[in-house]
Amino acid sequence: PQKITMTTPLVELDGDEMTRVLWPLVKEKLLLPFIDLKTEYYDLGIVERDRTDDQVTVDAARAIMQYGVGVKNATITPNADRVKEYGLKQQWKSPNGTIRAMLDGTVFRKPIMVDNIRPAVRSWEKPIVVGRHAYGDVYKNAEIFAAHGGKLEIVVTSKDGKETRETVMDVDGPAILQGVHNTVASIESFARACFEYALDQKIDCWFATKDTISKIYDQRFKDIFQEIFAAEYQKRFTATGIEFFYTLIDDVVARMMKTSGGILWACKNYDGDVMSDMVASAFGSLAMMSSVLVSPHGYFEYEAAHGTVQRHYYKHLKGEKTSTNPVALIYAWTGALRKRGELDGLPDLISFAATLEGTIIECIEQGYMTGDLALICEPKAVKVLNSMEFLDELATRLTAKLA
Ligand code: NAD
Repeated sequence: PQKITMTTPLVELDGDEMTRVLWPLVKEKLLLPFIDLKTEYYDLGIVERDRTDDQVTVDAARAIMQYGVGVKNATITPNADRVKEYGLKQQWKSPNGTIRAMLDGTVFRKPIMVDNIRPAVRSWEKPIVVGRHAYGDVYKNAEIFAAHGGKLEIVVTSKDGKETRETVMDVDGPAILQGVHNTVASIESFARACFEYALDQKIDCWFATKDTISKIYDQRFKDIFQEIFAAEYQKRFTATGIEFFYTLIDDVVARMMKTSGGILWACKNYDGDVMSDMVASAFGSLAMMSSVLVSPHGYFEYEAAHGTVQRHYYKHLKGEKTSTNPVALIYAWTGALRKRGELDGLPDLISFAATLEGTIIECIEQGYMTGDLALICEPKAVKVLNSMEFLDELATRLTAKLA
C-alpha cells in the first residue's frame, strides 16, 4: 500500500543507552513501513553532546522552534560517574533543562491506561494528567546555613538601588535559610499552557497552592490563574463543557483520591515533581507514562517520562535479552505525528497515530506484554515478551490492521 506522506519534518532528538537501542527499532518496525517519515535528526547522545560542547542540544531546540514539533529520546544527564564512564570534558547540563529554558514550557505527563492494569486508587478510571510548572521555586534557590543564627532577612535591590527588606526570623541558635523566587511572566505562561492543554484534551483543570499561608507568593499564583482564566478562557471552557477549579493543595490531594480521573492537575514545580511520581506509580509504571512539553509560543516536544533504563542497557551490552517496555517511547512518536498531522492538515497521519496507539492497548489487554507489566497485570499475562518480541508482535498486529 501507499505510504502516508508528511509535509513538514519532525525534529528528532536521539538519546542514550537502552532507549537509544530501541529508538531505531521503533522506527524500523512500526513507522517506516507505513509512513514516508520526514525527520530532521539531532544526536543528543552523550558522546555527540560532549563532542559539540553541547551545541547540538541548542541546535535541536532551535529546530523545534523553527518546525514546531519535536520527538525526544531519553538522554543521560551526566553526574560525576558519567563523566568518568564516558570521559566527558565536563558535567554537561540536563538537555531537558536546556530545551525547556529555550522553549519556556510546561510539562504534561499522562498515564497510558489498559484495562488489565488497575490503578492502585480504586476510583481512578480515567487518566490524571499532571502539569508541572518547570521554572523557579526551590529548583532555583539560594540557601544559607547560619551557624550562629542571627537576623535572617530577605532583600530586594531594585535597579535604582532601592532596597526592600523583610525579616524572616531572629534566631539564637544555628539555623537554615532559603530564598526562592518565581516570575510573573513564567506563572502566566504556565497558566496559559495549562488552560490550552485542558481545552485540547477537553478535561477539567484543577490548580492548588497554599495561599492561606503564603499570602504573597502562593496568592500570586492563585490570582494569576484566576485573572487569566476569567479574561481569556472562561468562555471557551464553558463552550467545551469543562471547568477550572481552584482549591488548597491539601484539599486537592484528598479530593484526587476520590475522583474518577479525567483531570488536568496543574502543579507548582515542587508539587509536580513529587505528585507526578506518585501518580505514575499509582497508575502502574513509568514505562506507561507519556510526556509532552507545551510551549506558550506554540512548540511541542514529545518524549517518554522515563530515563535511559541504564540497568537494561548493561544487560544488553552483555548480549542478554531485555524486557524494556517501549510503550512510552512509541507514544512519544504517535503524539508527535498526531500533532504534525493536526498542524499540517494530514488526517491519514492522525489516524495512523490512533491506530498504532490502539494496537498497543489491544495487544497488552489481550495479555501480550513486557515483564514490567506482567508483574502488575490482572488476569495474568498470556505471554511475557522481551523488547524485540514485543515490537515484532506490535508490528504484526499493526500490519494486519492497516492492510
Ligand atoms: P529510568 O527511568 O531509566 O529507570 C528508573 C527505573 O524504572 C529503573 O528501575 C528501570 O528499570 C525502570 N524503567 C524505566 N523505564 C522502563 C521501561 N521502559 N521498561 C522497563 N523498566 C523501566 O531512570 P534512572 O535509572 O533514574 O536514570 C537512568 C538515566 O536516565 C540517567 O542517566 C538519567 O540522567 C536519565 N534520565 C533521563 C530522563 C529524560 O531524558 N527524560 C529522565 C529521567 C532520567
